[in-house]
Formats: sequence, C-alpha cells, structure tokens
Amino acid sequence: MDSFGAPTQGEAQLAEQIAEAYPSIEKVRFTSSGTEAVMSAVRLARGATGRKKVIKCIGCYHGHSDAMLVSAGSGATTLGVPSSPGVPPGAVADTVLVPYNDLAAAQAAAGEAGAQLAAVLVEPVAGNMGVVPPADGYLAGLRKLCDRRGALLIFDEVITGFRLARGGAQEMYGVRADLTTLGKIIGGGLPVGAFGGPAAIMKYLAPEGPVYQAGTLSGNPAAMAAGLATLKAIAKAGFYQRLERTSAALEAGLRQAAESAGLAAKVCFNRVGSMMTCFFTPGPVRDYASATASDTAAFATYFHVLLRRGIYIAPSQYEAMFVSAAHGREDIARTIEAAGEAFSTAAGLMRKAEPGR
Ligand SMILES: *Cc1c(COP(=O)(O)O)cnc(C)c1O
Repeated sequence: MDSFGAPTQGEAQLAEQIAEAYPSIEKVRFTSSGTEAVMSAVRLARGATGRKKVIKCIGCYHGHSDAMLVSAGSGATTLGVPSSPGVPPGAVADTVLVPYNDLAAAQAAAGEAGAQLAAVLVEPVAGNMGVVPPADGYLAGLRKLCDRRGALLIFDEVITGFRLARGGAQEMYGVRADLTTLGKIIGGGLPVGAFGGPAAIMKYLAPEGPVYQAGTLSGNPAAMAAGLATLKAIAKAGFYQRLERTSAALEAGLRQAAESAGLAAKVCFNRVGSMMTCFFTPGPVRDYASATASDTAAFATYFHVLLRRGIYIAPSQYEAMFVSAAHGREDIARTIEAAGEAFSTAAGLMRKAEPGR
C-alpha cells in the first residue's frame, strides 16, 4: 500500500524525529515536495499574521510556486518582477526582493512593508546561486527584524536540513526560525516536503484552523519509510564530523589543484559543511550579484573535463557540490586528480579570453 490519503504511523514517527532535531518545531505537516512546503508555509505565515507581504532574497530558490518564482536579474529590488513566463505580475505583487546578506536592505524593505509584513523567507545558507554562507550576524539580524515587526522568520532548510547538522542551519548558526521548510534528505530520495513550527502557529492550519493545506500523496508511507531509514543512518555518532572531514579534504584538494593551474586569484571557494561551490570569479561571493560575476564559459569547460573523467558535478555554476557519507577517500582523491586537468583546461580558456590577446 503506497498511499492512504490519511495519516500513517510512519508520518507520526518522522514528524517526531524532526521535532526532536529542531527545537523550533513542535508540529510538522508533510507535503509531497519542497515547493509545496514553502508555498504552504508562506500561506500559513500570511494567514496567521493577517498580513500579505513576504520578503525574499534575490538568488534564493524556494521552489516553483508562482509567488516565489521571482529571483531578479531584472534589477528590480523592491517590487517583484516575475522571472518566468506564465507567472502573472499579480502573483508576485506581494513578494518583496532584497539582496542576500544585506541586512540594511531587508530592514529598509521591512520598513516599507510596515504593518503588511507577514514574513521574511530565506535560505539560511544559500544553495541555489551556488553556495553562499550567511554573513556574520545576518541571520540573527533577520531574527531581530522579524521580532520587532511582528513578522515570521521562515528558514527554507530544504537543502540544509539534516545536512549541515541534525538541527540544520538553525543548529549550526544558533538562530531559531518561526517556520521551517524541509525536503530532500528527509525523504531519503522519495518525493517529500515538510514544514513545521510552534503549535501556536501551526494551529492556524486546517482542519484545526482556517488556513487550508492538503495533499493526497503527502506523508505517503513509502516516502516516510525512506525518510526514517535515512534519519536513522545519519544518527550515528560522529556522522557530521566525518562528513566535515571528507568535505574539508575535498575543498583543500580542489584549492590546491586550482592554485597549481594558476587560478588561485581567479576562483573563489565557498563551503559550509558538505555544501560547496567553486565560483570562477575572484570573489568574494556573498550575494547574487557577486555570484553572477562568474565566468560561466570557464565553468562549462571545467564541468566537461570532469564529466569526461567520470566525475559528474552539478551542471551549473549556480549549484552546489554535495558531499555525502557514501563518498570515501578514494572518490575524493579521484575527484581532485581530475580537477587538476579540469582547472588547467579552464585556465587556458580564461587566458585566451583575456583582453589584448
Ligand atoms: C529544492 C529546493 C526547493 C524545492 O523543492 P522541490 O522538492 O524540488 O519542490 C525549495 N527550496 C530549496 C532551498 C530547494 O533547494
């Protein structure tokens, strides 16, 4: 039996594990994807506060629901401009865009939204413009801003949840969100999403409250079983320390390879735990604008040399490398070895492209 259209035991067990890992979460609602989790968390935030504006960072990805499918590129920083055909302007009229890691911009946008600010939504470690860590004090600053304004802080931990630590980015950075969205890891490879928070907020959800959310396949037993098995596998003592060591070894090796290829001053590595991106730009990369200064032709060359050597990294400069527990010493060594050739080939291309040559 794959689906009951009703709560199951596995669902309750997985919810308990999530609540145990996240002090900010008392109650959990499962969905079938991260997209649905964010869409529903935003609806809940709006319904619970009775307000409509949501601040979102340029370059952060929160799934493909209409209201969140605005990133930027357009240069519009305060008024949402749809970035996909098919998203009508009205659907994003209450999505307010600010640059990531810019607390002053968030404060200014919050001031403008005033009593209409329902929530600030952010990837606590950005993973969808390449990896961009939060600047010192940024997440704590957003926390304070929300408290002062009576708005909810939503951390989209669809990537970071159970990856950076068992309690995700909230554990790593010591900042609590009001609502948290999860996905990916908690489904162990099967379709899943979840959002959760304190009972006092979650009680606004139907059927207890008036904010509607439902899903025929949500919390289906197969995804719950896969999620439970995954959380069990990563609950072993020393798991995150080992993952950190493997990831640090990969970073050190890649840095060395880039340096040997003469790229030390031309690439920028951002890594938080097992999330990493090598940007083909001197950096520092701290937001969407600095990320998109990257030389994507050089990245493409790097990618294809790696692929030819049997190493398949994410096929975009603006995605992350994810180190997993399945990666052993040999995989890391092979990757670093192949990266030596990939960086050299990319360096040749970059030299040719230099002006005056
Ligand atoms: C992947 C992702 C989503 C969307 O999840 P899906 O399961 O692909 O719908 C939302 N937020 C973040 C941060 C993601 O990385």
